This record gives sequence, C-alpha cells and structure tokens, in this order.
Amino acid sequence: MDPKTDEINVPDILKGAGLRVTPQRDAILRHILTNRGHMSADEIYRAMQHILPNLSVSTVYNTLKCLSDVGLIREIKFGDAASLFDANTSPHHHMVCNKCGKLIDFYLPSTPNVTHIAEQEKFHIEEMHIAVRGICNDCAKSREPD
Ligand SMILES: [Zn+2]
Ligand SMILES: [Zn+2]
Repeated sequence: MDPKTDEINVPDILKGAGLRVTPQRDAILRHILTNRGHMSADEIYRAMQHILPNLSVSTVYNTLKCLSDVGLIREIKFGDAASLFDANTSPHHHMVCNKCGKLIDFYLPSTPNVTHIAEQEKFHIEEMHIAVRGICNDCAKSREPD
C-alpha cells in the first residue's frame, strides 16, 4: 500500500493541514513521503538541489519545522545528534543501528506507562519514544568473514 510519487497529492495534503502551498513545501514533503525513510535536514537539502537549486539550508529547516508543527511529518531527536524527519506520523518506536545509523520502525501494542515515575521527578512528558540500539542485519552481514 505504499503510495507512489504521482499518486500523492501533496498540495491537497498541505491545504488539508492548513498550510499555504509553496514550491518548497511541496518539494520537501513530496521527497519525505515518497522516500518513506528517516532523513536529516542536510540529506533533504542535498536531495533538493536538483529540484530547487536556489533553496537555502535555513529554508529547509524552516519548512521542516513548519511541516512537523502541523503533524505532517515527525521530528525525531536523539540527544545532540541532528534531528531526523519521519514520514511515519503514527506512534511508533525505533531500532537504531549503531553502525550505519539506520532507523527501523517498530510498534508496541501499548506504550509503557511512566506517568507515575515522571510525577515523582516532577518531570513533564512531552513525547515518549523508545530507541533500541544495536546492529542492523545489513551491517551484521557485512561483518561476517567470507
Ligand atoms: Zn546498519
Ligand atoms: Zn520511524
């Protein structure tokens, strides 16, 4: 059921989220939705250079912020590392490869309840995201001697 590039009506999606359609928003959202991965602003900027040669890095950042603010994409932060942007906006968690940095989506039947612990620490939860770190299958294979 993966949508194909020409089947995604990006302007309609933008309008549906209450955003004005601009060439930047259209191109960036189209790129994220068709590639369906997790990418950094830098990767998106580089991919946009063929499509919108005059696009600046700051416009890419602003556009990504705007798209995640309205919930069309999800920003994933890992500490100090560059944020990654995810086309999958349904609640899910990630397996993170320590070698290549790839993120693999996974789902839990229910999110662990940490409200009680957070209350003890007077910690205000904004988001809950579980990152499981390890080595992906591709990297594990490339490690094996042949
Ligand atoms: Zn890997
Ligand atoms: Zn994801």
